[in-house]
Amino acid sequence: ILFQVNGHSPDSDVQSEESLREDLQEFLGREAPLHQLDDLTKVNPVTLETVLRCLQARYMADTFYTNAGCTLVALNPFKPVPQLYLPELMREYHAAPQPQKLKPHVFSVGEQTYRNVKSLIEPVNQSIVVSGESGAGKTWTSRCLMKFYAVVAASPTSWESHKIAERIEQRILNSNPVMEAFGNARTLRNNNSSRFGKFIQLQLNRAQQMTGAAVQTYLLEKTRVACQASSERNFHIFYQICKGASEDERLQWHLPKGAAFSWLPNPERTLEEDCFEVTREAMLHLGIDTPTQNNIFKVLAGLLHLGNIRFADSEDEAQPCQLMDNAKCSVRTSALLLQLPEDMLLETLRIRTIRAGRQQQVFRKPCSQTECDTRRDCVAKLVYARLFDWLVSVINSSICADPGSWTTFIGLLDVYGFESFPDNSLEQLCINYANEKLQQHFVAHYLRAQQEEYTVEGLEWSFVNYQDNQACLDLIEGSPISICALINEECRLNRPSSAAQLQTRIESALAGSPCLGHNKLSREPSFVVVHYAGPVRYHTAGLVEKNKDPVPLDLTILLQQSQDPLLMVLFPINPKEKTQEEPSGQSRAPVLTVVSKFKASLEQLLQVLHSTTPHYIRCIKPNSQGQAQTFLREEVLSQLEACGLVETVHISAAGFPIRVSHQNFVERYELLRRLHQALMGPISPSPERSPHSKEATLQPLLQDILHTLPALTQAAATPGDSDEAT
Ligand code: ADP
Ligand code: MG
Repeated sequence: ILFQVNGHSPDSDVQSEESLREDLQEFLGREAPLHQLDDLTKVNPVTLETVLRCLQARYMADTFYTNAGCTLVALNPFKPVPQLYLPELMREYHAAPQPQKLKPHVFSVGEQTYRNVKSLIEPVNQSIVVSGESGAGKTWTSRCLMKFYAVVAASPTSWESHKIAERIEQRILNSNPVMEAFGNARTLRNNNSSRFGKFIQLQLNRAQQMTGAAVQTYLLEKTRVACQASSERNFHIFYQICKGASEDERLQWHLPKGAAFSWLPNPERTLEEDCFEVTREAMLHLGIDTPTQNNIFKVLAGLLHLGNIRFADSEDEAQPCQLMDNAKCSVRTSALLLQLPEDMLLETLRIRTIRAGRQQQVFRKPCSQTECDTRRDCVAKLVYARLFDWLVSVINSSICADPGSWTTFIGLLDVYGFESFPDNSLEQLCINYANEKLQQHFVAHYLRAQQEEYTVEGLEWSFVNYQDNQACLDLIEGSPISICALINEECRLNRPSSAAQLQTRIESALAGSPCLGHNKLSREPSFVVVHYAGPVRYHTAGLVEKNKDPVPLDLTILLQQSQDPLLMVLFPINPKEKTQEEPSGQSRAPVLTVVSKFKASLEQLLQVLHSTTPHYIRCIKPNSQGQAQTFLREEVLSQLEACGLVETVHISAAGFPIRVSHQNFVERYELLRRLHQALMGPISPSPERSPHSKEATLQPLLQDILHTLPALTQAAATPGDSDEAT
């Protein structure tokens, strides 16, 4: 109605008309139905319960995206919703005058981010941080954003002079299936769970076109190659090879149909992700030719055979372990595929060389059965981890733009969410540490941004009490004493220490920390960290060893003997490593532990994030069974708590959730001023401008407008009536 009065045709801007009506409704205190509230800051009052009710109502109405102030909440539909991801819809968000006014959507975040790069006088790099627990939809969401940018930021029509002519954005999209084949696996929580963290930088030129990308990965769960929890699987690529190889390839790679591999559990169920052809095709597009691909798959088949080698404990400690019945054949095939001397492979797995004394005399010590197993697993992890890193570098060289051809970037971060299992170890410590860091970044950035804005606008406001997690970060990474420091010290001292001793050290040295929880219930040595997302118990057994991640030099030397072209690239004979071999034990170079490497890469990541304007998407899993139309309140509740969503909403709601530029505000509400003037004379500025007095002025005014509406419509319908007269 107001629109017609204002002289606009109602068709010209339907969305605005709708939002005007919403605004009116809001002013009048009438609540919209819960599922229509597209921003959680509009829920009244903001509590866990009301937020939960709103999300549930929206989910049941097939509305999967909701704003939460500056964050977008994405509920996993667990069913295909193709109409939500059509290229037309991408273009609609891209073309909208104000994409934030359209329905909440990942495309809206994508578009606003994209405009942020462009609209500022000084272009600023942007980042989108996608978080959530495993299976919540992070990888889906970041893939969706990549597809969005491939459409809206398409490169100029020049075609690459690559073997396969194609646009760069297509090649960037092709990195997804490859990285997922090698880095994703089926877990209890997600059939396609990413077992690594990923930060991808989409590089834009001055014209805002995507000219390239760079990928950085974090902490690949390489143990999975040799050890899978029951009901879980190895990385998809192993299943793809076994299921998708041709007869010829089967012969070459020694993979007869139906062969059983102990590192290939649960092969019976075929997943959507098991498509070998898709991976091969994508690799080809990235410039990995068929012979190189076949080389990779041959090495992976070699690892599968390696995994079938079984040792029997030797009765005589001076003698090396015997091989179990069929293992001889596995040794032979594995050596053949990895192009290693068979006897050297077997010997290295069973016998350890120790250098000691001044002369660095070499002793050879037979390993126990457990040690043999560990060495076998270690070979596989070593090969797989280097292969993965090599793949990432090949992908990068294929998609990276020339340094001069891009000026800004949009970073997409898809990292593992907060984890808490019955048994948590170093992996969870690293993951949760990363999440603490990201949460701190979120709070710091968001509060700072708000405060700065309010100061500029000359608004008075008081801070909401938010959870500052500095104490927890001090406990984990602080200097000189923290959990990481203590674990690293144990590694450096290289002394035998029991799990119980480590627990005692941590508990006594860090007793003062408010984030070190009470450790009463556990029988096993452990400690509890109270994270912002909740307390987590970490077991100390094996922590130090995992942190060392020891790679016996023998094993590297073994792999350096390979005649396989790929392994020769992955394990070059490096003169440095040779010299390192000599004086071992005496010169103690600082050990680069898992924790210190992770910390360094995390700091680097945060530095990049700090240099960008961040945007946040919180993915939420409505149920852990992956069922559509099922919203389990308890499960969602714990995720809302874990990401501190209610606090985010509080901060947004206590601030000013609706920001309209002065210009837009005047354009939109000018009519009200004139109307009021017409009805009551000019609004006199009240001396104390408290929200109450503002409301007190507005309420009767709006009531008046409501009463006047019929008259207004009539006035507008009268032709020839100018606005002024109305
Ligand atoms: P995460 O990376 O957080 O572990 P994923 O992104 O792999 O989770 O999502 C898990 C699964 O959930 C996907 O394989 C897909 O089947 C489903 N899924 C996630 N988001 C969507 C969506 N927006 N629409 C449809 N299905 C989705
Ligand atoms: Mg994922």
